[in-house]
Amino acid sequence: MIKIDCLVVGAGFSGATIAERMAAGLNLKVLVLEKRDHIGGNAADRLNDSGILIHPYGPHIFHTNSLRIREYLSRFTRWRPYEHKVLAQIDGKLVPLPFNLNTLHALFPAAEAHRLEQQLINQYGENARVPILKLRESDSENLRELADYVYRKVFLGYTTKQWGLRPEELSSSVTARVPVLINRDDRYFQDTFQAMPSAGYTALFRRMLDHPNITVRTGEDFFLSRNQIRARRIFYTGPIDAYYDYRFGRLPFRSLHFKHENISQERFQPAGTVNFPNDHDYTRCTEFKYLSGQRHPDTAIVWEYPAAEGEPYYPVPRPENESLYKRYRQLAANENNITFIGRLANYRYYNMDQAVASALSGCGVAA
Ligand code: FAD
Ligand code: UDP
Repeated sequence: MIKIDCLVVGAGFSGATIAERMAAGLNLKVLVLEKRDHIGGNAADRLNDSGILIHPYGPHIFHTNSLRIREYLSRFTRWRPYEHKVLAQIDGKLVPLPFNLNTLHALFPAAEAHRLEQQLINQYGENARVPILKLRESDSENLRELADYVYRKVFLGYTTKQWGLRPEELSSSVTARVPVLINRDDRYFQDTFQAMPSAGYTALFRRMLDHPNITVRTGEDFFLSRNQIRARRIFYTGPIDAYYDYRFGRLPFRSLHFKHENISQERFQPAGTVNFPNDHDYTRCTEFKYLSGQRHPDTAIVWEYPAAEGEPYYPVPRPENESLYKRYRQLAANENNITFIGRLANYRYYNMDQAVASALSGCGVAA
């Protein structure tokens, strides 16, 4: 039997933040159990066989508006400034996303684009961020027609592939992640800080977990080891329904299958990511060298194929799923030494900075 102050289940951003704070902030002895054979959760990166830095679980770009989170993570990494660009293949053209005034001009005849641009500015104001489902409710018939076009060309096909649901069958916050921008900002994210960890995410995680009070055991499933561990406090960052043995049924998660390729040419595509809203079974293709800035005679890409079965990557934000989650949450509220934190345990569509923020507040030890 191992006795420990604090057990952390999962070594992703949530688990690593909690472990670091418990060890460095409270001077507690921490054991981290991770069932995969590496740290970093879905944000992990590694070199492929040709030595190109790739993200096995899909492209991860760090962006935040929180100075606190930026400063906290800066203790463990330097940053390479990086502003991600995404192009969408629409009607045979590659146009910028989020849909913005440049996209409008690329897809519409000049006079019509100009007229719609003026209407958008008059209605919403310059620099506004308008979720597509809101634009569809515009009072103006012209803007509603534009919204229907953007809905059909950008959102409907992609969302149906990605989630197996139409945009309006999901919380409006999902498509609002990629709002229509009333300006000419071609960057995919608009956060004040956008960067990649200079030596990669796995190096960042290594530094977070490199503390004399922290022991990390990878390749070890909590459910198989828990009888041999006695911890005063447990932080669990896996799926909450799994913890309760799916007592009320499974919380729906959407999965992806990743098809990684190494290509013997220096560049593959004209932007970090190309989205395919209307064709193919995959949603997008990302070329990692844009993200890392790495120079290499080969390049590495990944295609994302949405799937109903597989690793739980995305909670599915819908009212009935939230109700089911709340039932699990009620069980959790009656526990006295276990805390549920993270994208899987909180059933929240967190970005990395939000996962860190929620872990910092959930473990109760300020950064
Ligand atoms: P996870 O990273 O999922 O970590 C949970 C860990 O717990 C896993 O390693 C898992 O193996 C482990 N675990 C689960 N059960 C057990 C068990 N029983 N025993 C032991 N270990 C267990 N965010 C951004 O900010 N920018 C992006 O560009 C971005 N891109 C993304 C692209 C994709 C395809 C996906 C899926 C997500 C993306 N995200 C992005 C979100 C980001 O991945 C999450 O915010 C972050 O990884 C959440 O961290 P976490 O620690 O909560 O969860
Ligand atoms: N989306 C879309 N078309 C696109 C890009 C995004 O319909 O070209 C929708 C889709 O529903 C997607 C959501 O917006 O799941 C959020 O997109 P984001 O790029 O943030 O997804 P993530 O990177 O989290 O997979």
